[in-house]
Amino acid sequence: MSAERLTVLVAAYNEADALPRLHPRIDAALRELPGLDARIVYVDDGSRDGTWQVMQDITARDPRVALLKLSRNFGKELAMTAGLDRIEDGAAIILDADGQDPPELIPQFVAKWREGYDDVHGTRLQREGEGWLKRATAHAFYRVIGRLSKTPIPADTGDFRLLSPRALASLKQLRERRRFMKGLFGWVGFNTVAIPYQRQARMAGRSKFNLWKLWNFALEGITSFSTAPLRLATYVGLFTAAIAFLYAVFIIIKALCFGDRVAGYPSMMAVILFLGGVQLVALGLIGEYLGRLYEEVKQRPLYLVDVWQAAAEGVCSPPSTHVEERSHAHGTAIAGSEAPR
Ligand code: UDP
Ligand code: MG
Repeated sequence: MSAERLTVLVAAYNEADALPRLHPRIDAALRELPGLDARIVYVDDGSRDGTWQVMQDITARDPRVALLKLSRNFGKELAMTAGLDRIEDGAAIILDADGQDPPELIPQFVAKWREGYDDVHGTRLQREGEGWLKRATAHAFYRVIGRLSKTPIPADTGDFRLLSPRALASLKQLRERRRFMKGLFGWVGFNTVAIPYQRQARMAGRSKFNLWKLWNFALEGITSFSTAPLRLATYVGLFTAAIAFLYAVFIIIKALCFGDRVAGYPSMMAVILFLGGVQLVALGLIGEYLGRLYEEVKQRPLYLVDVWQAAAEGVCSPPSTHVEERSHAHGTAIAGSEAPR
């Protein structure tokens, strides 16, 4: 077999100042891995500055580089998807264009891949050059989504990660339209390992994500990876109906003992609250079905197989040998892997 292939994928939107500084760093990191057949894919996500020109200048000097230009700005999640779709074999490693995910760590990621890990992700220890508000909201976001989602989404982990060939092939099977990549990576699973790192400040330019965009991104993540919000109506409804019931019992007793001073008001309130609760429960029920429909529409594979270890040939034939010998035959069965390695 030829050398293992590794493709570095960088999605860039208006990064004309950062890319010329990033490329030499990637190049230096790849030089430390002479045994690898290294490639680099830059995706221009509809930049409006000189990013495309900068990318072409880089390609002119480095034949390992492939370029992809999207027709307009589609956002980082789709830009990454477009790039990953074009990586046909080998592993992929995703970096930000601004140098916040240090390319110097590539050899460490590759070492983990060689140890047999499929998803090696960088977990931020510290965020330099980012305000307290961004740090606090990011912190809260990872905790909330970690609670709400059944998919394991590691905290403080961005898109900086290496995917083994089979993890990449699996990810490509997820074709849903609203793509929250951190969740999709988590959904794939396999052997995952975190590499802690210090998040550096941007090399140049400004962050493309303001607070409003981040808020929408968080909503996207929560609604893509959890149907918990749909269930909210059920619980609020049940709570309201229960309170209304207790209140009704209370006013009946009160009216019996002391009379109904504001005629009709207590009973009316009880009826209104109770009906409101019932309506919310009904909405929650619709939400439950909608949630199931939503899961179906995403058309994710039902599961992914890590190892399928077939029984050894001839085990099914009538036992003519001793038990110990048969168990030995089992032990020598060759492990088969469903997904391409
Ligand atoms: N990016 C992109 N398309 C966009 C916005 C951002 O490809 O619409 C890229 C951007 O060029 C960078 C990465 O996504 O490589 C992360 O963006 P940024 O540094 O602005 O986000 P932050 O690090 O502040 O969260
Ligand atoms: Mg950044």
